[in-house]
Amino acid sequence: MRPVSDCGGIGRKNMFEDVILIKPGEIALKGLNKGRFVALLCRNIKGKLKSLGEFLLLESDSTFVVKANQKDSDLNKALDLVKNVFGISKLGMAKLCSKDLDVIKLCCLQLVNESEPFNSFKVEAKRADKKFLPRSAELCPQIGNYILQNVKGICVDVHNPDLTLKVEVRRDGAYVYVSEIRGLGGMPVGCCGKGNVLISGGIDSPVAAYMLAKRGLSLSYTHFESPPYTSEFAHMKVVDLLRKLTKYCGAATLHTIEFTYIQERIKKLCPERLFTIIMRRFMLRMAEQIAFENKEGTLITGESLGQVASQTLEAITCTEEVCTLPIFRPLIGMDKREIIEIARKIGTFETSILPYEDCCTVFVPKHPKTNPEIEKIREAETSLRGVLLDESGSVLADAYSIRTEKVSE
Ligand code: ATP
Ligand code: MG
Repeated sequence: MRPVSDCGGIGRKNMFEDVILIKPGEIALKGLNKGRFVALLCRNIKGKLKSLGEFLLLESDSTFVVKANQKDSDLNKALDLVKNVFGISKLGMAKLCSKDLDVIKLCCLQLVNESEPFNSFKVEAKRADKKFLPRSAELCPQIGNYILQNVKGICVDVHNPDLTLKVEVRRDGAYVYVSEIRGLGGMPVGCCGKGNVLISGGIDSPVAAYMLAKRGLSLSYTHFESPPYTSEFAHMKVVDLLRKLTKYCGAATLHTIEFTYIQERIKKLCPERLFTIIMRRFMLRMAEQIAFENKEGTLITGESLGQVASQTLEAITCTEEVCTLPIFRPLIGMDKREIIEIARKIGTFETSILPYEDCCTVFVPKHPKTNPEIEKIREAETSLRGVLLDESGSVLADAYSIRTEKVSE
């Protein structure tokens, strides 16, 4: 067993020790990068457990084991937190015992006695430690018979059992369990670089953040506001959404950009029907500047093809022209209904539907252009040179302000 933090060994007082068994997902297949990904997964699991007391995290044959390191360390609460860490395919409570067949049988019996009443069962055994005998095929009937002899009124059903007793013999001991839950899958946050999410208070962008944190991006966030047209409540709503996302994505850095002046100038100096596209080009320019400063490699939005006028193919082509960083739009092919399903699952939906005005709905044209032409947009923006844009096309620094805050769980 390779210690990830200080190694514990099997508890001396009890023959069987309660532990959490964690099976990583895709990272198990990552070849030369595996070591780095495993280290990140450990860091993220430990980060989750920090608030709960002392636990030991160990690695055993490509599986992680969490042990309580203090009498009052609550493993059930730990399981509840760790299940939200990306990069895990399965996890659950297990009992750890020594690799002695009689002890394994006793451990199985205890677990069966602690389980809800059942009529039928089967045993599934695996040996990561190939030196251990008997082999898996013989281990199953031996344990099965022992259970049958000691528990009245049950039978073996290998096809459709009420209860499956799983035994995994690893180098450091034998693990026995009866239930596992599905983890969230994905990759450990941080293993695929850093990205900056353009976060509104709406339904879509928190879901976009969740989806790309799941693919291993470490995220920070940029929110645009335009007081006095948008209120302090709209800002608090975004902070609240980020707090909910920290459960999956980790602590957040939020950059809030106040750009009322920019919106007012665009409204005054550009054709009304192009307002939204031009405003969105400014949003991307400013967000990209923040991303460059923080060495983030991508911008992320909650856009979905055709959802609104600014999300047609032509509009998206016109807005992203101002960016050199790749823009990830994980919701591009999703219907609102599918997005809402995820928002409900991750707990952001109820906050997202609170009715506070977003900067994108301020000054919104009655008939926005759905098929804007890039030349017309460029031409319209010439009137903003020296007002909002410098000669190189960057947004003038004194046209907007940024404040930065941390959001933790
Ligand atoms: P959401 O898409 O998050 O539900 P929305 O539908 O109100 O919010 P859209 O007009 O669809 O917003 O905007 C598309 C995308 O542009 C958002 O998903 C988000 O990435 C970005 N965006 C919109 N408004 C803001 C804002 N105030 N601050 C930062 N990004 C924003
Ligand atoms: Mg949207």
